[in-house]
Amino acid sequence: MSRHRVRARPPRATSQEPALRVTQGIDASAYLEDAAHYPGGHTPLVVCPRDEYQLAMTLRDATSVLPVGAQSSLTGGATPMGDTVISLSTLVALGPPSVHSVNAEPGVTLADLREALTAAGRAYPPVPTYEGATVGGVVSTNAAGAATFKYGTTRQWVRGLSVMLATGELLDLERGQVRAADNCFEIATSAGTIQVPVPTYRLPDVPKRAAGYPAGPDLDLIDLFIGSEGTLGIVTSVTLDVLPRCPEVGCVLIACRDEAQAVALASRLRAESIRTWRDQDPDGLDVIAIEHMDRRCLELLRDDGAAKRFGVTIPDDADVLLLAQVEFPPGTTTARVYDDVASVADVGSASGGGLDSPVARLCRVVAESDRLHATEIVAPGDAARVAALMALREAVPDAVNRRVGIAKRTVDDTIEKTAADMIVPFAQLSESLRLFRHAFESRGLDYAIWGHLSDANMHPNVIPRSAEDVRRGKDAILECGRGVIQLGGCPLAEHGVGRNPVKQALLRQLYGDGGIAEMYAVKRALDPSRKLAPGVLLP
Ligand SMILES: Cc1cc2nc3c(=O)[nH]c(=O)nc-3n(C[C@H](O)[C@H](O)[C@H](O)COP(=O)(O)OP(=O)(O)OC[C@H]3O[C@@H](n4cnc5c(N)ncnc54)[C@H](O)[C@@H]3O)c2cc1C
Repeated sequence: MSRHRVRARPPRATSQEPALRVTQGIDASAYLEDAAHYPGGHTPLVVCPRDEYQLAMTLRDATSVLPVGAQSSLTGGATPMGDTVISLSTLVALGPPSVHSVNAEPGVTLADLREALTAAGRAYPPVPTYEGATVGGVVSTNAAGAATFKYGTTRQWVRGLSVMLATGELLDLERGQVRAADNCFEIATSAGTIQVPVPTYRLPDVPKRAAGYPAGPDLDLIDLFIGSEGTLGIVTSVTLDVLPRCPEVGCVLIACRDEAQAVALASRLRAESIRTWRDQDPDGLDVIAIEHMDRRCLELLRDDGAAKRFGVTIPDDADVLLLAQVEFPPGTTTARVYDDVASVADVGSASGGGLDSPVARLCRVVAESDRLHATEIVAPGDAARVAALMALREAVPDAVNRRVGIAKRTVDDTIEKTAADMIVPFAQLSESLRLFRHAFESRGLDYAIWGHLSDANMHPNVIPRSAEDVRRGKDAILECGRGVIQLGGCPLAEHGVGRNPVKQALLRQLYGDGGIAEMYAVKRALDPSRKLAPGVLLP
């Protein structure tokens, strides 16, 4: 068979137990909403298949289906609109990790995956913030998170995939084995050969893209399904690459005077870390992620008492908090961190100036920006403090979401979360922040910006006080999208598109009518009766 051809196989029956079926009115209500709180969810039936055969039978009997994992989608992509919900939560087999990979069924959560890998001395780093998300969900959204700067997105870690097509047959795909030829794949099924066209639009050159189907003359078929949000097939098994070690990750909280200083410092931390990886320097600084919270975020943390709760004093002169995750050499204890910080801080010390440890290098970079006095370094072993600082970061979206909920309850029922998830090349980061601020401020909106600064992937969020704020916020996001595209970025970085009309509009901004038509052509080839997740990704 030529390299762009692949043969589908029939589903296997392996379970003695019947599929779990839940009809409307009993417990189906638990499946009607995802984390985006997209309104109007309804379903006639929820099925939890226990093997491929049961999954295929569910697919055969339904008019339309929506595969779901943990329904932590932030785009409405996991909200059923009359579709049969196929919950993959009963498919949770997890193979023993080998040195370099692990096999998981789609319902395995990232928390369970982490636990199993840690026990085996392995790790899977490119995880989104929410650990309840499932393997099937992160593959289907090409999820990413804070650590993309060092470790990339889900896509780079998927080595193999089994995926059920709309026909009920399966493809077992291994990375590198099926590549496009003449802008086409051929899939041999029992009913004949499916010709799948390969999109030709140009992808923005940024490390995160959760923006529809990938493109390119040399496309790997496995990549077509990763990030396809359930619209091309149902993921039934995944082989993920893993790190053959468990990195020791500590935290650094730096209170910066203003945004310019934060961006400059992040830029230095990135450059130092890239140099470390290039030179494989064991004493080098190894930052894997830098999170960013702007001035409004800090106000929210103060107002809600979160800063106090997590034992963080935000200096009065600070406008921005940076929270970096840093890999330290094994055995970097809290005492060692204190010693190294003291050595660098004590400029008169004989050893301080020449000390060459990752902590010392980190301190020097921070000291160059004159922020060492406003920095807290937490060693990997201090798990409680690391957890507290990570919780501080999560308190920011929680604070905004709570305010959206209160406004919805007390002001107008149509008020909803109004947020963007955009990425630009790092060199354009400051320009993108200016763009966001102008778009929101020129419309008189209250807003906060946080995100993964190390990737220049930011989440500008409106804090709406009225339905009109929501309308203006959506308008602002579309303006930001146009600007981000002009800067060479992607207006859909990591959360995907789902059913969100603004995100679907951003997708059209990005690839134009022609690009959307090419996506429809892929969808028509693989799912001609629009059975799989209709309305998700493509309206
Ligand atoms: C607090 C919080 C923080 C988050 N942080 C991040 C973050 O940092 N980065 C990030 O990328 N995302 C983030 N997310 C969004 C979300 O966690 C991710 O998109 C995640 O990948 C979804 O996984 P899930 O199992 O919940 O999938 P679901 O939400 O159930 O489904 C998501 C999409 O994938 C499809 N799907 C699910 N399973 C399958 C399958 N087996 N086969 C085919 N299609 C399937 C669904 O149809 C849907 O379109 C966050 C969400 C929350 C609530």
